[in-house]
Amino acid sequence: MNLVNEFVNVYGSAPQYSFFCPGRVNLIGEHIDYNGGLVMPCAIALGTHLLITPNDENIFRFKSLNFEEAIEIPVAPEYEKTGKAWYNYPLGVIDLFTRAGKKLSGLNMLFVGNVPIGSGLSSSAAIEVATAFALNTIFDIGYDKLDLVKYAQQVENKFIGVNCGIMDQFAVAFGEKDSALVLNCDTLAYEAVPCGLDDYVLAIINTNKQRTLADSKYNERFAECRSALKNLQTRLPIQHLCDLNANDLEHNLDLIENFTIAKRAKHVVNENERVHAAVKALSDGQLEAFGELMYASHDSLRNLYEVTGKELDCVIDFCKTQPHVVGARMTGAGFGGCAIALVKKAHFDDFEKKLTWHYTDMIGYAPSVYMSEIGNGVYQLNYSNTTEQECIR
Ligand code: ADP
Ligand code: MG
Repeated sequence: MNLVNEFVNVYGSAPQYSFFCPGRVNLIGEHIDYNGGLVMPCAIALGTHLLITPNDENIFRFKSLNFEEAIEIPVAPEYEKTGKAWYNYPLGVIDLFTRAGKKLSGLNMLFVGNVPIGSGLSSSAAIEVATAFALNTIFDIGYDKLDLVKYAQQVENKFIGVNCGIMDQFAVAFGEKDSALVLNCDTLAYEAVPCGLDDYVLAIINTNKQRTLADSKYNERFAECRSALKNLQTRLPIQHLCDLNANDLEHNLDLIENFTIAKRAKHVVNENERVHAAVKALSDGQLEAFGELMYASHDSLRNLYEVTGKELDCVIDFCKTQPHVVGARMTGAGFGGCAIALVKKAHFDDFEKKLTWHYTDMIGYAPSVYMSEIGNGVYQLNYSNTTEQECIR
């Protein structure tokens, strides 16, 4: 698909600006970004393009090749969310910039995503950060990348209504090619650690299970963690669950009366410790140790945090039987969506075929399996240098 031609078809002339923002996977450290923990995401090569030309009609035109509905919204002092419409995401960014006193004028926008939407690869963070990055560039606003990340998270929390942590927006903005970001979600300190996968590749397996309950269950887990924290704070001077180590939690578990909430806290604290071990394993080139931690992470998300489901478990159980897979786990919020696996490159095709057979047999429909590159975070495409390949994704 030639994106410039698509833009011309919709708006009648070539776009003046073009941006790309990737999706992300999280290698390990799940459901702890909103508990002040350490996470390890990376940006992937799939993502969302945003092509834009300013107009002098004071109208924001929203069109996406991934959705039928297009809309025109006049420039205004503030904006309202419309039900579950896709354009709430870029509109939320516009609303936040406007409320912060930034003067915006009309834009013709075209979004085109090749990251599976609603599958846990953060297409929502991609569209938010792409929009924030674009507005910042076009209107010469002068925010730095971290400001844009925080705004994008705020849009998801307040305008959309999902209490996500900062990991997704951070990863799709700051991602570095062939590196994992080790991000402290409390201090926002981070470092990029080269992945060094050697003869292994990162496989993304989309279970193709609709995540219909994902947002409400996500907010439920968020509330459960808040409740565990409140219980623990009656005796312990902590700000986040991840301020505790597993030993401290064990000695203070009597503070949490509710068994389910205690299980959630155990997952969070253990998972945070696993990430510390995973950083060391990856830095030392110990891919097998890293893979074991991925499996342990999945088991904890399955048994303690209860966010996996039979589709994700089917994928991970299969991976455990494969000699050429070193580790696998669900990635993202769970309740369906995607899993990741580290697979020996020479055996990837065989892995894809066997997994597809097995999964289809067990679940009744096929998964989608991608060999994924680890890419860069959000960037502007320069049309004067844009090759045909860059336009056509
Ligand atoms: P995920 O972030 O896991 O992909 P979400 O449910 O959080 O799933 O976000 C998906 C929503 O983001 C879509 O339903 C749509 O509203 C919006 N979105 C993402 N990518 C695009 C796109 N290319 N065009 C239009 N809307 C998009
Ligand atoms: Mg999302």
